[in-house]
Amino acid sequence: MFTVAAAQAVVLTHARPLPPETAALGASLLGAALAEDVHSDIDMPPYDKSMMDGYAVRTADLADGRGELAVVEEVMAGQTPRLPVGAGQATRVMTGAPMPAGADVVVMVERTRITDGGRVHIDDPGLQPGRNIVTRGREMRRGDAVLRAGAVLRPQEIGLLATVGRATAAVIPSPSVAVLSTGDEVVEPPETPGPGQIRNSNGPMLLAQAARAGGRPHYLGIARDRLDSLRPLVAEGLQADVLLLSGGVSAGKLDLTPGVLQEAGVVAHFHKVEMKPGKPVLFGTHDRGQGRPPTLVFGLPGNPVSSFVCFELFVRPAIRRLRGLPDSDPTASAILSEDFAYRTDRPTYHPARLEVGDGGWRVRAVPWFGSADLRGLLEMDALVVFPAGDHRHKAGTQFPVLRLED
Ligand code: AMP
Ligand code: MG
Repeated sequence: MFTVAAAQAVVLTHARPLPPETAALGASLLGAALAEDVHSDIDMPPYDKSMMDGYAVRTADLADGRGELAVVEEVMAGQTPRLPVGAGQATRVMTGAPMPAGADVVVMVERTRITDGGRVHIDDPGLQPGRNIVTRGREMRRGDAVLRAGAVLRPQEIGLLATVGRATAAVIPSPSVAVLSTGDEVVEPPETPGPGQIRNSNGPMLLAQAARAGGRPHYLGIARDRLDSLRPLVAEGLQADVLLLSGGVSAGKLDLTPGVLQEAGVVAHFHKVEMKPGKPVLFGTHDRGQGRPPTLVFGLPGNPVSSFVCFELFVRPAIRRLRGLPDSDPTASAILSEDFAYRTDRPTYHPARLEVGDGGWRVRAVPWFGSADLRGLLEMDALVVFPAGDHRHKAGTQFPVLRLED
């Protein structure tokens, strides 16, 4: 049986970035990986620009930064100066306005006053040529590579794309993630479960996890534990970049998922991992041809906490790869803050709460009633990894932890 680390490595060998697509510039690009180098089509700023509301003047006219000058013109942002600033002259400029010829400095308006005669009096002893001016091309020059392929788009990158005139950009798209619940006993949330029935918590939860990981989730409904119900829904799910099935992967009589996947051409790379919860987890790939990367198929055990943990351990890193993002390692090390006696036959990802203490992270195992107990996860923001065996873990001992996203 694979260890978690070995199983994660197998998943990653099959997860390749999706082919780039051209997308319109906008908020929907947030978090996407850029798939092209982007060059500037302009100098920025496009002209020598005033950074202050004030007066464009010549330092030569002001001994010790003092003097009185004639105001020849007013230039707002968006206007172009018509007159040069000659000896003894000043131009009123607003923030963002182009500099008039002849001036070599902007005196901020707070350092000036208008005299009774309508001239401007300046008193700014610290005045140096170039103050409060950004020269043309200072930020970037036309032709500069301002963004490289692989850059992850945050608001500032999106703003920069707009600055250099891009209405579209080549990016790695968000993977589509199909979610299929399975089970004869599973009913949709509005229904009141009858005897032996259980509400479909995994469907909405996995859709939300997929969205949080940056996927584009869609729901396929509940497949019943019958071949004629599973087959068409699996076929539909195999159109997606990622197919998540919940339930039906254990060794029960009606755990039909592995067989149906195999029959549909899914090659299984592992089935069962040395872990708790989530041991029955299955991972396979389905070749889509046409140069497209294979569909990644995850058979997640039906117990809600197993599903949740398997998603975080195996599906989330895979979605990052499909999105062209660098791998991120959410594991850390933390000191157990309270004694915790725990017996388990496999390495266990136990719900836990992290806090920052004096010597780094401190972790506390939260009460939990096993792999069906979703309510026990409400307090959780991490998983602490306990080794197999019958242990009385002592406060102060270091353990690996897996930090979960907010
Ligand atoms: P299975 O993996 O199909 O053997 O299911 C394991 C356990 O998880 C059973 O108790 C199921 O009733 C439960 N279960 C399966 N699917 C879901 C689901 N979508 N939502 C909540 N619980 C489920
Ligand atoms: Mg089942």
